[in-house]
Amino acid sequence: MQSFDVQVSGAGIVGKSLALSLARLGLSVAVRSARAATPPSEDVRAYALSPASIALLERLKVWDALADDARTAVHEMLVRGDGEGAVLEFSAWEQRVAELAVIVDAAALEQELEAALRFAPHVTRVDDDVPAALVAHCEGRGAALGPLRDTVAFERSDTGQRAIAARLVATVPHRHTARQWFRSPDVLALLPFDRPEPGRSYALVWSLPSARAEALLAMDRGAFEQELAAAVGSDAGALALASERASWPLLVGGASEWCGPGWVVLGDAAHLVHPLAGQGLNLGLADVAALASVIAAREPWRALGDERLLRRYVRQRAAPTWAMTRITDGLLRLFAEPAAPIRELRNNGMQIVNRVTPLKRWLTARALDS
Ligand SMILES: Cc1cc2nc3c(=O)[nH]c(=O)nc-3n(C[C@H](O)[C@H](O)[C@H](O)COP(=O)(O)OP(=O)(O)OC[C@H]3O[C@@H](n4cnc5c(N)ncnc54)[C@H](O)[C@@H]3O)c2cc1C
Repeated sequence: MQSFDVQVSGAGIVGKSLALSLARLGLSVAVRSARAATPPSEDVRAYALSPASIALLERLKVWDALADDARTAVHEMLVRGDGEGAVLEFSAWEQRVAELAVIVDAAALEQELEAALRFAPHVTRVDDDVPAALVAHCEGRGAALGPLRDTVAFERSDTGQRAIAARLVATVPHRHTARQWFRSPDVLALLPFDRPEPGRSYALVWSLPSARAEALLAMDRGAFEQELAAAVGSDAGALALASERASWPLLVGGASEWCGPGWVVLGDAAHLVHPLAGQGLNLGLADVAALASVIAAREPWRALGDERLLRRYVRQRAAPTWAMTRITDGLLRLFAEPAAPIRELRNNGMQIVNRVTPLKRWLTARALDS
């Protein structure tokens, strides 16, 4: 049987990006997908990607291949709490950057990565495990049931919430403004987008207690749109569904170990964060960039599966991942608390943060760096 430098197990966005990154270093890469993977073309999500993620996709020649209407820049972000005047406003102008994030069509990104993989030298698709010096586990949530299940403890705690995603079309232009509502018991994001209607579309991500989410999913389109209007008010104009609604149970957690002799874990397989801060994929793509740079800089005599080499990757990624996990967990707990004194405290806190420009800059910089 042919043997490879690296086998990438799991062909989501993280696995595909890693395969392309390693092939660019001249390594032979086998990519093994799940047997019953969901077709990416049915993914209605859109991701908020940070400049660091975009830089990686540019290096992989995937970013510029995306159609113009598959990526939309965010220039302003409005975050509302559940009290009068509890608003946080972020702007690219205030941050002195071209954009705060870019919203990218999940299915289009998967398709461009897939096309790049087809033409990449040194990449082979395989159906079963093959001999390889290093196995990179990128199986996302599926990792807990995958080949590492007896080696690594995968902590997965159910938040009791589901996220509903869908595309919407608004009656007024989005003006490149992302809108978020942080409150108890839901977190709702309207991400400006240009599909299907240029300038007037949004990608919806609505995280709610599971029972409420199930009830919303069971409603017909008209009833759902009414509930949505009640949740977001009229700032974005009237919103109509422009796609099917899809939903995900929201789990948080991580893998107890990220590497061992001959194996390494990346992306959601290593760390699962709540989507309220839109950082899960950004963390996964930062893992890819870190592992590829550690491998590129290795000593000529060091084997790819050498645990000491892989520990360099883990050392690079541990602190930023820990920080982002604490931030998202902290926000989730803070905004899930219905008690009136806590609600008042967090709403006042938002008003204070909004007035302190350096603090807002610092917060934005953390999100841009991930
Ligand atoms: C509603 C929602 C909105 C989100 N929005 C954002 C956002 O705005 N920004 C952001 O950065 N992140 C966001 N995220 C998080 C983001 O979706 C994930 O972090 C990202 O998709 C993880 O990519 P991955 O490749 O690690 O895992 P996955 O996308 O889960 O891919 C794993 C792949 O491995 C395959 N697989 C599973 N088991 C096996 C096996 N045993 N063998 C081989 N293959 C296997 C699966 O079929 C799949 O193809 C959001 C998440 C949700 C739920």
